[in-house]
Amino acid sequence: MTAGANPGAPAQFVAQDLYEVRRTIHPRAVHGWFAAWRWALVWATQLVFYGLAWLPWNGRQAVLFDIAHRKFYVFGQVFFPQDIIYLTVLLIIAALALFLFTAVAGRLWCGYACPQTVYTEIFLWVEKAIEGDRVARMRLDAAPLTPRKLALRAAKHAVWIAVALWTGFTFVGYFTPIRELWDAVWGLNTGPWETFWVLFYGFATYGNAGWMREQVCKHMCPYARFQSAMFDPDTLIITYDRGRGEPRGKNASKRPGKGHCVDCGICVQVCPTGIDIRDGLQYECIGCAACIDGCDQVMDKVGLPRGLIRYSTQHAMERKLTRGETWRRAFRPRVLAYSAVLWAIVIAAGVSLWQRVPLKVDVIRDRAAISRQVEGGEVENVYRLQIMNVTEAPRTYAIRVAGLEGVAIAGADRVAVGPASSAALPLKVRGRAAPGTHRIEFLVGAEGAPDERVSEKSVFIVR
Ligand code: SF4
Ligand code: SF4
Repeated sequence: MTAGANPGAPAQFVAQDLYEVRRTIHPRAVHGWFAAWRWALVWATQLVFYGLAWLPWNGRQAVLFDIAHRKFYVFGQVFFPQDIIYLTVLLIIAALALFLFTAVAGRLWCGYACPQTVYTEIFLWVEKAIEGDRVARMRLDAAPLTPRKLALRAAKHAVWIAVALWTGFTFVGYFTPIRELWDAVWGLNTGPWETFWVLFYGFATYGNAGWMREQVCKHMCPYARFQSAMFDPDTLIITYDRGRGEPRGKNASKRPGKGHCVDCGICVQVCPTGIDIRDGLQYECIGCAACIDGCDQVMDKVGLPRGLIRYSTQHAMERKLTRGETWRRAFRPRVLAYSAVLWAIVIAAGVSLWQRVPLKVDVIRDRAAISRQVEGGEVENVYRLQIMNVTEAPRTYAIRVAGLEGVAIAGADRVAVGPASSAALPLKVRGRAAPGTHRIEFLVGAEGAPDERVSEKSVFIVR
């Protein structure tokens, strides 16, 4: 109820929805330079995603995250949970790359490579192939339910579900050998977790790319919310050149001196989030550049120069910078600093991987068995060695102990470990030393592979 200006007047009621009803967006298909880039990235990312899981390597799957056995295979490398540092470095590289690309050119990730964008593009392509372009789809939406509409909708959803299930199957195929998974699917004997994740990932793909679409970017993705913190006035963003476009109106080319925007609305029709870029930068803009391609086509038709909507910066617009000046400012100190740190970490991680010894040893001193006196007046400490063979060949490892005179291993000092496997070895170390804590070192080396040796520190306690 609103209070009237006149206290004696009857009360005024205004009905207002608490929630905005979602308006279905049917983006118009667009062609152009940026659309070609988007599709190139769709192909590249999906060829890698769907193809890599089937790639064989050394008689196994090239990329397999075998969580059940706690081993991760990435081409010729085998990682154990102890290699978590590489995952940490990978995440740091991904975060820094995101900061760098965002500082240079805004939401590049969102517009071209984010799975939400990529799968929405694929689902839209299916929708267009079955139901037709934007106008046909809008008509179909408004039409009553007829056998034709039912058939078109059923066909579209059947293809969407097939793509989504294949995506879920491929995703799970990175965690369980995909060929075994394939056989299990056909034999209807997949395990409960495999079934759950195939269906869950498939359902998420179908729901996000088929139904939710721009809602995910607008309301669910946290990145959209903090992106503006990473922008500055020299960040390249998709911008409508207000100075050139306004005052907008029909037949701009026949109105010399007037704005170039012919107010055709194409930039809004092609926008997957349904916004009007002429209203300025908005958080809903995912930076897909479809409006640039759309507007360029219009400019070509009306005989005006392209670039009414283009990648530009706040400073370029305000200070009328040339294209060269704009690009030079894009490589500002902040960007150079991100690039330097990123390259330093990438190179360090590459060198570390290159020099990685394919053997890992963890020494755990048995705290339950305190040091004890044994025959001959010697003292014995008990350890547990976890030896991880990171190669894909069987190895026999010889173990020595050093660092304290007269200290030696009592019992077996050799252990055979299968390819990409680990073995736990209880080890007794005996020696004579003064009471106290003494530093010792376990030296483990593969027989016949002189490069595969590591040392691991521990302590020898005499009470
Ligand atoms: S596509 Fe270009 S000309 Fe058409 S309304 Fe948008 S900005 Fe104006
Ligand atoms: S405004 Fe342009 S760049 Fe932004 S989401 Fe819409 S079409 Fe893509």
